[in-house]
Amino acid sequence: MGAPRGEPPLRPRGRTGSVGIAAALRRCPRCGEHRIWRSWATLGATCPRCALDFDRHGWVAAVWINTWITILLVMGWTIAAVAMTLPDVPWTVGAVAVALAVGAPVLCLPVAKLIQTGILLRWDPPRDGWQR
Ligand SMILES: [Zn+2]
Repeated sequence: MGAPRGEPPLRPRGRTGSVGIAAALRRCPRCGEHRIWRSWATLGATCPRCALDFDRHGWVAAVWINTWITILLVMGWTIAAVAMTLPDVPWTVGAVAVALAVGAPVLCLPVAKLIQTGILLRWDPPRDGWQR
């Protein structure tokens, strides 16, 4: 059974079937709406389609998620690059690791916010009539 007429679907549509994919595609984790950004890095207060409040829980978990994304990127890059270039590891491996450590938190924070929103959407769903 689908959602009643005029009511948006309960789950992300099409290619945004999971929280991680919806976040990576920068879409609302509940309805899949893409017009949720005020700018590239600034998430709107609510989804214009399903009215999900993105700021309902603050962003502490997003900072934690963002930190782990950055750690995994830097460690993954460093381990792979060192393993592929041993015994003569070029200095650029370290330079790229530093660039990742500085740039990844800035670039990944918007995605981390959507991952947090999606996780909390399932863990503590809002009582606004969307959930069944
Ligand atoms: Zn939405």
